[in-house]
Amino acid sequence: MDGYLSSISALLHDYAPFINMYIEEYHQSSVIGVLRDAAFLYFLYLVLALIFREIVCYGPFGAIAYYSRIVCSKFFERALELPPFRSKIQKELDPTLAAVQKSVIGESADLDSVKSLPDRGWKKELIEAQFDNLLKLKHSDWESGKVSGAVYHGDTALWDLQAEAFEKFIAANQLHPDVFPAVRKMEAEVVAMTLSLFNAPDSGVGTSTSGGTESLLLACLAAREKARIERGVTNPEMILPVTAHAAFDKAAFYFNICMRKAPIDPNTGKVIISAVKRMINSDTVLIVGSAPNFPHGIIDDIETLSELAVRYKLPLHVDACLGSFVVPFMSQIYGDDFPLFDFRLPGVTSISCDTHKYGMAPKGSSIIMYRDRKLREYQYFVTLGWCGGIYGSPTLAGSRPGALMVGCWATMVRVGKNGYLKQAKEIVKCSSKLKEGINNIPELSVIGDPMGSVVSFTSDSIDIYSLSDRMSKKGWHLSALQSPAAIHYACTGNTDLNTVKALLKDLKSICSELTKEGAGAAKGDTSALYGVNGSVQTGSLTKRIVVGFLDALYKL
Ligand SMILES: *Cc1c(COP(=O)(O)O)cnc(C)c1O
Repeated sequence: MDGYLSSISALLHDYAPFINMYIEEYHQSSVIGVLRDAAFLYFLYLVLALIFREIVCYGPFGAIAYYSRIVCSKFFERALELPPFRSKIQKELDPTLAAVQKSVIGESADLDSVKSLPDRGWKKELIEAQFDNLLKLKHSDWESGKVSGAVYHGDTALWDLQAEAFEKFIAANQLHPDVFPAVRKMEAEVVAMTLSLFNAPDSGVGTSTSGGTESLLLACLAAREKARIERGVTNPEMILPVTAHAAFDKAAFYFNICMRKAPIDPNTGKVIISAVKRMINSDTVLIVGSAPNFPHGIIDDIETLSELAVRYKLPLHVDACLGSFVVPFMSQIYGDDFPLFDFRLPGVTSISCDTHKYGMAPKGSSIIMYRDRKLREYQYFVTLGWCGGIYGSPTLAGSRPGALMVGCWATMVRVGKNGYLKQAKEIVKCSSKLKEGINNIPELSVIGDPMGSVVSFTSDSIDIYSLSDRMSKKGWHLSALQSPAAIHYACTGNTDLNTVKALLKDLKSICSELTKEGAGAAKGDTSALYGVNGSVQTGSLTKRIVVGFLDALYKL
Protein backbone atom coordinates (compact mmCIF):
# COMPACT_ATOMS: atom_id res chain seq x y z
CA MET A 1 0.00 0.00 0.00
CA ASP A 2 2.75 2.45 1.06
CA GLY A 3 4.69 1.35 -2.00
CA TYR A 4 1.95 2.49 -4.36
CA LEU A 5 1.54 5.82 -2.58
CA SER A 6 5.22 6.72 -2.54
CA SER A 7 5.64 5.86 -6.21
CA ILE A 8 2.64 8.03 -7.05
CA SER A 9 4.03 10.98 -5.08
CA ALA A 10 7.43 10.52 -6.77
CA LEU A 11 5.63 10.58 -10.11
CA LEU A 12 3.83 13.80 -9.16
CA HIS A 13 7.15 15.32 -8.11
CA ASP A 14 8.77 14.52 -11.46
CA TYR A 15 5.90 16.00 -13.40
CA ALA A 16 5.48 19.11 -11.25
CA PRO A 17 7.23 21.47 -13.75
CA PHE A 18 4.96 20.30 -16.59
CA ILE A 19 1.87 20.68 -14.44
CA ASN A 20 2.95 24.24 -13.59
CA MET A 21 3.45 25.02 -17.24
CA TYR A 22 0.01 23.73 -18.00
CA ILE A 23 -1.52 25.90 -15.28
CA GLU A 24 0.26 28.96 -16.75
CA GLU A 25 -1.28 28.25 -20.12
CA TYR A 26 -4.69 28.08 -18.51
CA HIS A 27 -4.64 31.81 -17.86
CA GLN A 28 -4.57 32.41 -21.58
CA SER A 29 -7.09 29.79 -22.71
CA SER A 30 -10.85 30.05 -23.15
CA VAL A 31 -13.39 29.21 -20.45
CA ILE A 32 -14.81 26.37 -22.52
CA GLY A 33 -11.36 24.91 -23.03
CA VAL A 34 -10.69 24.99 -19.30
CA LEU A 35 -14.02 23.33 -18.57
CA ARG A 36 -13.33 20.65 -21.18
CA ASP A 37 -9.91 19.91 -19.71
CA ALA A 38 -11.31 19.85 -16.20
CA ALA A 39 -14.02 17.41 -17.23
CA PHE A 40 -11.46 15.19 -18.92
CA LEU A 41 -9.13 15.25 -15.91
CA TYR A 42 -12.00 14.44 -13.59
CA PHE A 43 -13.00 11.49 -15.79
CA LEU A 44 -9.39 10.29 -15.84
CA TYR A 45 -9.25 10.60 -12.07
CA LEU A 46 -12.41 8.50 -11.68
CA VAL A 47 -11.09 5.74 -13.93
CA LEU A 48 -7.68 5.68 -12.24
CA ALA A 49 -9.28 5.70 -8.78
CA LEU A 50 -11.44 2.72 -9.77
CA ILE A 51 -8.45 0.77 -11.07
CA PHE A 52 -6.41 1.70 -8.01
CA ARG A 53 -9.20 0.43 -5.76
CA GLU A 54 -9.30 -2.95 -7.51
CA ILE A 55 -5.52 -3.28 -7.25
CA VAL A 56 -5.58 -2.54 -3.52
CA CYS A 57 -8.41 -5.05 -3.13
CA TYR A 58 -7.02 -8.05 -5.03
CA GLY A 59 -3.33 -7.15 -5.51
CA PRO A 60 -2.01 -6.32 -9.03
CA PHE A 61 -1.84 -9.93 -10.28
CA GLY A 62 -4.98 -10.96 -8.40
CA ALA A 63 -6.92 -8.12 -10.04
CA ILE A 64 -5.73 -9.12 -13.52
CA ALA A 65 -6.60 -12.79 -12.86
CA TYR A 66 -9.99 -11.87 -11.37
CA TYR A 67 -11.07 -9.60 -14.21
CA SER A 68 -9.59 -11.82 -16.95
CA ARG A 69 -11.72 -14.68 -15.68
CA ILE A 70 -14.85 -12.55 -15.72
CA VAL A 71 -14.11 -11.25 -19.24
CA CYS A 72 -13.31 -14.76 -20.53
CA SER A 73 -16.48 -16.32 -19.12
CA LYS A 74 -18.58 -13.48 -20.55
CA PHE A 75 -16.87 -13.96 -23.90
CA PHE A 76 -17.61 -17.70 -23.98
CA GLU A 77 -21.15 -17.15 -22.71
CA ARG A 78 -21.84 -14.82 -25.66
CA ALA A 79 -19.91 -16.97 -28.14
CA LEU A 80 -21.92 -20.07 -27.25
CA GLU A 81 -25.09 -18.17 -28.14
CA LEU A 82 -23.91 -17.47 -31.71
CA PRO A 83 -25.76 -19.40 -34.46
CA PRO A 84 -23.00 -21.91 -35.33
CA PHE A 85 -22.76 -23.13 -31.71
CA ARG A 86 -26.26 -22.51 -30.46
CA SER A 87 -28.12 -25.34 -32.15
CA LYS A 88 -25.30 -27.83 -31.61
CA ILE A 89 -25.16 -27.04 -27.91
CA GLN A 90 -28.92 -27.17 -27.58
CA LYS A 91 -28.84 -30.63 -29.15
CA GLU A 92 -26.25 -31.75 -26.61
CA LEU A 93 -28.08 -30.14 -23.69
CA ASP A 94 -31.51 -31.54 -24.57
CA PRO A 95 -30.90 -35.09 -23.26
CA THR A 96 -29.47 -33.66 -20.02
CA LEU A 97 -32.45 -31.35 -19.57
CA ALA A 98 -34.81 -34.25 -20.25
CA ALA A 99 -32.97 -36.39 -17.69
CA VAL A 100 -33.14 -33.61 -15.10
CA GLN A 101 -36.87 -33.20 -15.66
CA LYS A 102 -37.45 -36.94 -15.50
CA SER A 103 -35.62 -37.25 -12.21
CA VAL A 104 -37.49 -34.29 -10.66
CA ILE A 105 -40.88 -35.64 -11.70
CA GLY A 106 -39.91 -39.19 -10.74
CA GLU A 107 -42.68 -41.63 -9.88
CA SER A 108 -45.26 -38.85 -9.68
CA ALA A 109 -45.59 -39.20 -13.47
CA ASP A 110 -47.66 -42.34 -12.74
CA LEU A 111 -50.23 -40.46 -10.64
CA ASP A 112 -53.18 -38.55 -12.12
CA SER A 113 -52.68 -34.77 -12.07
CA VAL A 114 -55.24 -32.13 -11.17
CA LYS A 115 -54.78 -29.42 -13.77
CA SER A 116 -57.85 -27.31 -13.11
CA LEU A 117 -60.17 -26.90 -10.16
CA PRO A 118 -62.49 -29.87 -9.74
CA ASP A 119 -66.03 -28.89 -10.84
CA ARG A 120 -67.36 -30.27 -7.59
CA GLY A 121 -65.20 -30.26 -4.49
CA TRP A 122 -63.68 -33.62 -3.57
CA LYS A 123 -64.95 -35.73 -0.70
CA LYS A 124 -62.67 -35.65 2.33
CA GLU A 125 -62.00 -39.41 1.99
CA LEU A 126 -60.73 -38.93 -1.56
CA ILE A 127 -58.33 -36.23 -0.43
CA GLU A 128 -57.02 -38.43 2.38
CA ALA A 129 -56.54 -41.32 -0.02
CA GLN A 130 -54.59 -39.00 -2.34
CA PHE A 131 -52.40 -37.87 0.59
CA ASP A 132 -51.50 -41.53 1.12
CA ASN A 133 -50.67 -42.03 -2.55
CA LEU A 134 -48.50 -38.94 -2.64
CA LEU A 135 -46.68 -39.85 0.54
CA LYS A 136 -45.76 -43.21 -1.01
CA LEU A 137 -43.68 -41.54 -3.75
CA LYS A 138 -40.07 -42.68 -3.60
CA HIS A 139 -37.98 -40.16 -1.62
CA SER A 140 -34.66 -39.86 0.22
CA ASP A 141 -34.75 -41.64 3.55
CA TRP A 142 -34.21 -38.83 6.07
CA GLU A 143 -35.66 -40.68 9.08
CA SER A 144 -32.52 -42.83 9.39
CA GLY A 145 -30.21 -39.81 9.13
CA LYS A 146 -29.05 -40.66 5.60
CA VAL A 147 -29.79 -37.11 4.41
CA SER A 148 -27.33 -34.35 5.30
CA GLY A 149 -29.18 -31.46 7.05
CA ALA A 150 -32.66 -30.80 5.54
CA VAL A 151 -34.81 -32.27 8.33
CA TYR A 152 -33.32 -31.22 11.64
CA HIS A 153 -35.14 -33.46 14.10
CA GLY A 154 -37.44 -36.47 14.20
CA ASP A 155 -39.17 -35.87 17.52
CA THR A 156 -42.78 -36.91 16.85
CA ALA A 157 -44.06 -35.53 20.17
CA LEU A 158 -42.75 -32.12 19.11
CA TRP A 159 -44.56 -32.41 15.77
CA ASP A 160 -47.79 -33.22 17.62
CA LEU A 161 -47.35 -30.05 19.67
CA GLN A 162 -46.68 -28.02 16.50
CA ALA A 163 -49.77 -29.51 14.86
CA GLU A 164 -51.79 -28.46 17.89
CA ALA A 165 -50.42 -24.92 17.54
CA PHE A 166 -51.55 -24.98 13.92
CA GLU A 167 -55.00 -26.20 14.79
CA LYS A 168 -55.55 -23.48 17.41
CA PHE A 169 -54.11 -20.56 15.41
CA ILE A 170 -54.72 -21.64 11.82
CA ALA A 171 -56.38 -18.33 10.86
CA ALA A 172 -53.78 -16.08 12.46
CA ASN A 173 -51.99 -13.38 10.42
CA GLN A 174 -49.31 -11.18 12.01
CA LEU A 175 -50.33 -8.37 9.66
CA HIS A 176 -53.31 -7.83 11.98
CA PRO A 177 -52.05 -7.66 15.57
CA ASP A 178 -55.39 -6.23 16.71
CA VAL A 179 -57.18 -9.35 15.44
CA PHE A 180 -54.53 -11.76 16.76
CA PRO A 181 -53.02 -10.15 19.89
CA ALA A 182 -51.88 -13.55 21.22
CA VAL A 183 -49.66 -14.15 18.20
CA ARG A 184 -48.13 -10.66 18.44
CA LYS A 185 -47.13 -11.40 22.02
CA MET A 186 -45.70 -14.82 21.19
CA GLU A 187 -43.70 -13.39 18.28
CA ALA A 188 -42.23 -10.69 20.54
CA GLU A 189 -41.31 -13.40 23.05
CA VAL A 190 -39.63 -15.58 20.40
CA VAL A 191 -37.49 -12.61 19.32
CA ALA A 192 -36.65 -11.75 22.95
CA MET A 193 -35.66 -15.35 23.78
CA THR A 194 -33.38 -15.52 20.73
CA LEU A 195 -31.79 -12.14 21.54
CA SER A 196 -31.01 -13.35 25.03
CA LEU A 197 -29.48 -16.58 23.67
CA PHE A 198 -27.07 -14.45 21.59
CA ASN A 199 -26.28 -12.13 24.52
CA ALA A 200 -27.82 -9.00 23.02
CA PRO A 201 -27.53 -5.79 25.07
CA ASP A 202 -30.71 -4.17 26.44
CA SER A 203 -30.92 -2.12 23.24
CA GLY A 204 -31.15 -5.33 21.16
CA VAL A 205 -34.20 -5.83 18.89
CA GLY A 206 -35.23 -8.08 16.01
CA THR A 207 -38.01 -9.45 13.84
CA SER A 208 -39.07 -12.93 12.82
CA THR A 209 -38.83 -13.87 9.13
CA SER A 210 -39.75 -16.72 6.80
CA GLY A 211 -36.26 -18.28 6.88
CA GLY A 212 -32.52 -17.71 6.79
CA THR A 213 -32.63 -16.21 3.31
CA GLU A 214 -35.13 -13.52 4.31
CA SER A 215 -33.12 -12.74 7.46
CA LEU A 216 -29.98 -12.23 5.37
CA LEU A 217 -31.83 -10.19 2.72
CA LEU A 218 -33.05 -7.86 5.46
CA ALA A 219 -29.63 -7.57 7.13
CA CYS A 220 -28.11 -6.52 3.78
CA LEU A 221 -30.98 -4.15 2.99
CA ALA A 222 -30.69 -2.50 6.42
CA ALA A 223 -26.92 -2.05 6.02
CA ARG A 224 -27.36 -0.61 2.51
CA GLU A 225 -30.03 1.84 3.68
CA LYS A 226 -27.99 2.88 6.71
CA ALA A 227 -25.01 3.74 4.48
CA ARG A 228 -27.20 5.49 1.89
CA ILE A 229 -29.00 7.66 4.42
CA GLU A 230 -26.18 8.34 6.88
CA ARG A 231 -23.20 8.48 4.49
CA GLY A 232 -24.72 9.06 1.04
CA VAL A 233 -23.27 5.80 -0.36
CA THR A 234 -24.78 5.20 -3.81
CA ASN A 235 -22.62 2.28 -5.05
CA PRO A 236 -22.83 0.00 -2.02
CA GLU A 237 -20.35 -2.86 -1.56
CA MET A 238 -20.31 -5.65 1.03
CA ILE A 239 -17.38 -7.82 2.02
CA LEU A 240 -18.04 -11.49 2.63
CA PRO A 241 -16.03 -14.67 2.95
CA VAL A 242 -16.21 -16.86 -0.19
CA THR A 243 -17.84 -19.40 2.14
CA ALA A 244 -20.75 -17.10 3.10
CA HIS A 245 -24.20 -18.42 2.16
CA ALA A 246 -25.63 -17.95 -1.36
CA ALA A 247 -28.46 -15.89 0.17
CA PHE A 248 -25.96 -12.98 0.31
CA ASP A 249 -25.55 -13.29 -3.48
CA LYS A 250 -29.33 -13.19 -3.67
CA ALA A 251 -29.35 -9.99 -1.57
CA ALA A 252 -26.71 -8.50 -3.87
CA PHE A 253 -28.92 -9.41 -6.86
CA TYR A 254 -32.17 -8.05 -5.39
CA PHE A 255 -30.77 -4.91 -3.79
CA ASN A 256 -27.95 -3.97 -6.19
CA ILE A 257 -25.09 -4.38 -3.79
CA CYS A 258 -21.62 -5.18 -5.17
CA MET A 259 -19.93 -8.15 -3.51
CA ARG A 260 -16.27 -8.33 -2.50
CA LYS A 261 -15.50 -11.96 -1.73
CA ALA A 262 -12.57 -12.57 0.59
CA PRO A 263 -10.68 -15.88 0.31
CA ILE A 264 -10.33 -18.39 3.14
CA ASP A 265 -7.17 -19.84 4.65
CA PRO A 266 -7.07 -23.38 3.18
CA ASN A 267 -5.80 -24.84 6.46
CA THR A 268 -8.29 -23.34 8.89
CA GLY A 269 -11.18 -22.66 6.49
CA LYS A 270 -11.59 -19.21 8.12
CA VAL A 271 -11.77 -15.99 6.11
CA ILE A 272 -8.38 -14.25 5.75
CA ILE A 273 -8.69 -11.08 7.81
CA SER A 274 -6.00 -9.13 5.94
CA ALA A 275 -7.93 -9.76 2.70
CA VAL A 276 -11.12 -8.42 4.30
CA LYS A 277 -9.22 -5.36 5.49
CA ARG A 278 -7.86 -4.62 2.01
CA MET A 279 -11.40 -4.74 0.59
CA ILE A 280 -12.72 -1.99 2.86
CA ASN A 281 -13.28 1.32 1.05
CA SER A 282 -15.60 4.33 1.18
CA ASP A 283 -18.43 2.36 -0.49
CA THR A 284 -18.35 -0.53 2.00
CA VAL A 285 -21.71 -0.89 3.75
CA LEU A 286 -21.33 -4.27 5.51
CA ILE A 287 -18.81 -6.89 6.62
CA VAL A 288 -20.00 -10.49 6.96
CA GLY A 289 -18.78 -13.47 8.97
CA SER A 290 -20.38 -16.90 9.50
CA ALA A 291 -20.87 -18.83 12.74
CA PRO A 292 -20.52 -21.35 11.17
CA ASN A 293 -20.60 -21.28 7.36
CA PHE A 294 -22.71 -23.74 5.37
CA PRO A 295 -20.04 -25.33 3.14
CA HIS A 296 -17.44 -26.32 5.75
CA GLY A 297 -19.13 -25.76 9.11
CA ILE A 298 -16.26 -23.45 10.10
CA ILE A 299 -16.74 -20.40 12.33
CA ASP A 300 -14.88 -17.33 11.03
CA ASP A 301 -12.67 -15.32 13.36
CA ILE A 302 -15.54 -13.07 14.48
CA GLU A 303 -13.47 -11.52 17.31
CA THR A 304 -11.00 -9.97 14.82
CA LEU A 305 -13.73 -9.09 12.31
CA SER A 306 -15.42 -7.22 15.17
CA GLU A 307 -12.23 -5.23 15.83
CA LEU A 308 -12.12 -4.28 12.12
CA ALA A 309 -15.79 -3.27 12.18
CA VAL A 310 -15.24 -1.06 15.23
CA ARG A 311 -12.09 0.51 13.79
CA TYR A 312 -13.73 1.36 10.44
CA LYS A 313 -17.17 2.12 11.97
CA LEU A 314 -18.87 -0.47 9.73
CA PRO A 315 -21.76 -2.85 10.50
CA LEU A 316 -20.79 -6.53 10.96
CA HIS A 317 -23.35 -9.24 10.31
CA VAL A 318 -22.82 -12.69 11.84
CA ASP A 319 -24.67 -15.41 9.94
CA ALA A 320 -25.66 -17.93 12.62
CA CYS A 321 -28.52 -19.31 10.49
CA LEU A 322 -26.94 -22.76 10.61
CA GLY A 323 -25.37 -22.35 14.05
CA SER A 324 -28.88 -21.46 15.24
CA PHE A 325 -29.52 -23.27 18.53
CA VAL A 326 -26.26 -25.26 18.55
CA VAL A 327 -23.59 -22.54 18.44
CA PRO A 328 -24.87 -20.67 21.56
CA PHE A 329 -24.17 -23.85 23.59
CA MET A 330 -20.61 -24.40 22.33
CA SER A 331 -18.92 -22.77 25.32
CA GLN A 332 -20.84 -25.14 27.61
CA ILE A 333 -19.46 -28.07 25.56
CA TYR A 334 -15.92 -26.93 24.68
CA GLY A 335 -15.25 -24.63 27.66
CA ASP A 336 -15.33 -20.91 28.38
CA ASP A 337 -12.39 -20.12 26.11
CA PHE A 338 -14.50 -20.96 23.03
CA PRO A 339 -14.11 -17.84 20.82
CA LEU A 340 -16.91 -15.26 21.04
CA PHE A 341 -19.17 -14.74 18.01
CA ASP A 342 -22.26 -12.91 19.33
CA PHE A 343 -23.37 -9.48 20.59
CA ARG A 344 -20.77 -9.61 23.40
CA LEU A 345 -18.35 -8.44 20.68
CA PRO A 346 -18.86 -4.68 20.27
CA GLY A 347 -18.51 -4.71 16.46
CA VAL A 348 -21.31 -7.25 15.86
CA THR A 349 -24.35 -5.23 14.78
CA SER A 350 -26.68 -7.95 13.45
CA ILE A 351 -27.08 -11.73 13.76
CA SER A 352 -29.36 -14.12 11.85
CA CYS A 353 -30.50 -17.34 13.54
CA ASP A 354 -32.73 -19.99 11.95
CA THR A 355 -35.35 -21.23 14.38
CA HIS A 356 -36.34 -23.74 11.67
CA LYS A 357 -32.94 -25.43 11.68
CA TYR A 358 -31.57 -26.54 15.09
CA GLY A 359 -34.31 -24.47 16.76
CA MET A 360 -36.58 -27.40 15.68
CA ALA A 361 -39.47 -25.04 14.81
CA PRO A 362 -41.68 -25.81 11.78
CA LYS A 363 -40.15 -24.76 8.43
CA GLY A 364 -40.59 -21.12 7.48
CA SER A 365 -39.07 -19.42 10.49
CA SER A 366 -35.89 -17.48 11.32
CA ILE A 367 -34.92 -14.46 13.41
CA ILE A 368 -32.96 -11.36 12.36
CA MET A 369 -31.50 -9.49 15.35
CA TYR A 370 -29.93 -6.02 15.59
CA ARG A 371 -27.84 -4.30 18.23
CA ASP A 372 -30.25 -1.32 18.28
CA ARG A 373 -33.60 -0.17 16.93
CA LYS A 374 -32.13 2.40 14.57
CA LEU A 375 -30.53 -0.31 12.43
CA ARG A 376 -33.72 -2.40 12.48
CA GLU A 377 -35.71 0.59 11.27
CA TYR A 378 -33.70 0.56 8.02
CA GLN A 379 -35.29 -2.78 7.06
CA TYR A 380 -38.85 -1.48 7.63
CA PHE A 381 -41.13 -0.56 4.75
CA VAL A 382 -43.52 2.37 5.20
CA THR A 383 -45.68 4.04 2.56
CA LEU A 384 -48.05 6.89 3.34
CA GLY A 385 -49.85 7.78 0.11
CA TRP A 386 -51.38 4.44 -0.97
CA CYS A 387 -55.12 4.46 -1.79
CA GLY A 388 -55.40 1.39 0.41
CA GLY A 389 -54.40 3.47 3.42
CA ILE A 390 -51.25 4.18 5.41
CA TYR A 391 -49.18 0.99 5.26
CA GLY A 392 -46.15 -0.32 7.12
CA SER A 393 -44.61 -3.78 7.43
CA PRO A 394 -41.50 -4.90 9.29
CA THR A 395 -40.22 -7.58 6.87
CA LEU A 396 -40.43 -8.61 3.20
CA ALA A 397 -43.81 -10.33 3.44
CA GLY A 398 -47.15 -8.61 3.91
CA SER A 399 -49.45 -11.21 5.42
CA ARG A 400 -47.58 -13.71 7.56
CA PRO A 401 -48.62 -17.15 8.77
CA GLY A 402 -49.28 -16.65 12.50
CA ALA A 403 -49.76 -20.38 13.09
CA LEU A 404 -46.12 -20.97 12.12
CA MET A 405 -45.00 -18.42 14.70
CA VAL A 406 -47.10 -20.12 17.38
CA GLY A 407 -45.48 -23.44 16.40
CA CYS A 408 -42.06 -21.81 16.84
CA TRP A 409 -42.99 -20.32 20.22
CA ALA A 410 -44.39 -23.62 21.51
CA THR A 411 -41.26 -25.49 20.34
CA MET A 412 -38.86 -23.07 22.04
CA VAL A 413 -40.59 -23.03 25.40
CA ARG A 414 -41.14 -26.81 25.25
CA VAL A 415 -37.49 -27.69 24.45
CA GLY A 416 -35.90 -25.07 26.74
CA LYS A 417 -32.20 -24.51 27.39
CA ASN A 418 -31.76 -28.03 28.77
CA GLY A 419 -33.26 -29.59 25.63
CA TYR A 420 -31.18 -27.51 23.23
CA LEU A 421 -28.00 -28.18 25.21
CA LYS A 422 -28.73 -31.91 25.05
CA GLN A 423 -29.26 -31.66 21.28
CA ALA A 424 -26.01 -29.68 20.84
CA LYS A 425 -24.07 -32.29 22.85
CA GLU A 426 -25.47 -35.15 20.73
CA ILE A 427 -24.61 -33.33 17.51
CA VAL A 428 -21.07 -32.50 18.61
CA LYS A 429 -20.59 -36.12 19.74
CA CYS A 430 -21.62 -37.40 16.30
CA SER A 431 -19.70 -34.79 14.29
CA SER A 432 -16.47 -35.32 16.29
CA LYS A 433 -16.66 -39.07 15.64
CA LEU A 434 -17.30 -38.37 11.98
CA LYS A 435 -14.39 -35.90 11.80
CA GLU A 436 -12.04 -38.40 13.44
CA GLY A 437 -13.25 -41.27 11.23
CA ILE A 438 -12.86 -39.31 7.99
CA ASN A 439 -9.37 -38.17 8.89
CA ASN A 440 -8.51 -41.87 9.31
CA ILE A 441 -9.57 -42.69 5.75
CA PRO A 442 -6.33 -42.30 3.74
CA GLU A 443 -8.03 -40.86 0.63
CA LEU A 444 -9.93 -38.12 2.52
CA SER A 445 -9.10 -35.00 4.51
CA VAL A 446 -11.42 -32.77 6.55
CA ILE A 447 -11.40 -29.04 5.71
CA GLY A 448 -10.27 -27.08 8.78
CA ASP A 449 -11.36 -28.18 12.26
CA PRO A 450 -15.17 -27.92 12.33
CA MET A 451 -16.61 -27.72 15.87
CA GLY A 452 -20.34 -27.92 15.10
CA SER A 453 -22.72 -30.01 13.05
CA VAL A 454 -21.12 -29.96 9.58
CA VAL A 455 -18.03 -31.92 8.50
CA SER A 456 -16.73 -31.32 4.97
CA PHE A 457 -13.95 -33.22 3.26
CA THR A 458 -11.85 -33.26 0.09
CA SER A 459 -9.49 -35.69 -1.57
CA ASP A 460 -6.17 -35.38 -3.39
CA SER A 461 -6.28 -38.89 -4.80
CA ILE A 462 -9.87 -39.69 -5.84
CA ASP A 463 -12.67 -37.76 -7.56
CA ILE A 464 -14.73 -36.58 -4.60
CA TYR A 465 -17.87 -36.14 -6.74
CA SER A 466 -17.66 -39.78 -7.85
CA LEU A 467 -17.58 -40.67 -4.15
CA SER A 468 -20.71 -38.57 -3.67
CA ASP A 469 -22.48 -40.19 -6.65
CA ARG A 470 -21.67 -43.70 -5.42
CA MET A 471 -22.80 -42.80 -1.88
CA SER A 472 -26.14 -41.70 -3.40
CA LYS A 473 -26.55 -45.19 -4.83
CA LYS A 474 -26.34 -46.44 -1.23
CA GLY A 475 -29.10 -44.02 -0.19
CA TRP A 476 -26.85 -41.29 1.29
CA HIS A 477 -27.65 -37.71 0.40
CA LEU A 478 -24.47 -35.63 0.86
CA SER A 479 -24.01 -32.01 -0.25
CA ALA A 480 -21.62 -31.30 -3.12
CA LEU A 481 -19.33 -28.26 -2.67
CA GLN A 482 -16.87 -26.54 -5.01
CA SER A 483 -13.73 -24.36 -4.96
CA PRO A 484 -12.32 -26.62 -3.62
CA ALA A 485 -14.19 -29.73 -4.77
CA ALA A 486 -15.54 -31.31 -1.59
CA ILE A 487 -18.65 -32.85 -0.03
CA HIS A 488 -20.20 -32.50 3.40
CA TYR A 489 -22.53 -34.12 5.87
CA ALA A 490 -24.51 -32.06 8.43
CA CYS A 491 -25.49 -33.98 11.57
CA THR A 492 -29.06 -33.44 12.76
CA GLY A 493 -31.36 -34.86 15.42
CA ASN A 494 -31.81 -37.82 13.05
CA THR A 495 -28.09 -38.68 13.19
CA ASP A 496 -26.78 -41.02 15.90
CA LEU A 497 -23.53 -42.88 16.42
CA ASN A 498 -24.87 -45.81 14.38
CA THR A 499 -25.52 -43.47 11.46
CA VAL A 500 -21.96 -42.18 11.72
CA LYS A 501 -20.59 -45.73 11.82
CA ALA A 502 -22.58 -46.73 8.74
CA LEU A 503 -21.58 -43.52 6.92
CA LEU A 504 -17.88 -44.09 7.64
CA LYS A 505 -18.11 -47.74 6.57
CA ASP A 506 -19.64 -46.81 3.20
CA LEU A 507 -17.19 -43.92 2.67
CA LYS A 508 -14.25 -46.20 3.39
CA SER A 509 -15.34 -48.99 1.06
CA ILE A 510 -16.16 -46.65 -1.85
CA CYS A 511 -12.85 -44.82 -1.39
CA SER A 512 -10.88 -48.06 -1.71
CA GLU A 513 -13.03 -49.02 -4.69
CA LEU A 514 -12.23 -45.70 -6.42
CA THR A 515 -8.55 -45.96 -5.56
CA LYS A 516 -8.44 -49.44 -7.05
CA GLU A 517 -10.17 -48.32 -10.24
CA GLY A 518 -7.76 -45.36 -10.52
CA ALA A 519 -8.11 -42.89 -13.39
CA GLY A 520 -10.45 -45.26 -15.24
CA ALA A 521 -13.18 -44.98 -12.58
CA ALA A 522 -16.58 -44.24 -14.16
CA LYS A 523 -17.83 -40.73 -13.43
CA GLY A 524 -21.39 -39.91 -12.39
CA ASP A 525 -23.74 -36.94 -12.83
CA THR A 526 -22.31 -34.77 -10.03
CA SER A 527 -18.84 -35.15 -11.50
CA ALA A 528 -20.07 -34.20 -14.95
CA LEU A 529 -22.06 -31.18 -13.73
CA TYR A 530 -19.23 -29.72 -11.65
CA GLY A 531 -16.81 -30.44 -14.48
CA VAL A 532 -18.91 -28.34 -16.87
CA ASN A 533 -19.39 -25.62 -14.25
CA GLY A 534 -15.73 -25.41 -13.30
CA SER A 535 -14.59 -24.58 -16.83
CA VAL A 536 -14.47 -20.99 -18.09
CA GLN A 537 -15.56 -22.16 -21.56
CA THR A 538 -18.66 -24.08 -20.51
CA GLY A 539 -19.57 -22.56 -17.12
CA SER A 540 -22.52 -20.62 -18.59
CA LEU A 541 -24.17 -23.89 -19.67
CA THR A 542 -24.63 -24.90 -16.04
CA LYS A 543 -27.11 -22.07 -15.69
CA ARG A 544 -29.30 -23.61 -18.38
CA ILE A 545 -29.30 -26.92 -16.54
CA VAL A 546 -30.25 -25.21 -13.27
CA VAL A 547 -33.00 -23.27 -15.05
CA GLY A 548 -34.21 -26.60 -16.48
CA PHE A 549 -34.33 -27.99 -12.95
CA LEU A 550 -36.28 -24.98 -11.66
CA ASP A 551 -38.71 -25.21 -14.59
CA ALA A 552 -39.18 -28.92 -13.89
CA LEU A 553 -40.42 -28.14 -10.38
CA TYR A 554 -43.65 -26.89 -11.94
CA LYS A 555 -44.13 -29.62 -14.57
CA LEU A 556 -46.95 -32.14 -14.26
C1 LIG B 1 -29.40 -22.53 5.71
C2 LIG B 1 -28.53 -21.36 5.76
C3 LIG B 1 -28.98 -20.09 5.35
C4 LIG B 1 -30.28 -19.84 4.61
O1 LIG B 1 -31.35 -20.37 5.17
P1 LIG B 1 -32.73 -20.77 4.47
O2 LIG B 1 -33.53 -21.02 5.67
O3 LIG B 1 -32.48 -21.97 3.64
O4 LIG B 1 -33.23 -19.62 3.69
C5 LIG B 1 -28.13 -19.03 5.53
N1 LIG B 1 -26.91 -19.20 6.05
C6 LIG B 1 -26.42 -20.40 6.42
C7 LIG B 1 -25.04 -20.51 6.98
C8 LIG B 1 -27.22 -21.53 6.28
O5 LIG B 1 -26.74 -22.73 6.60
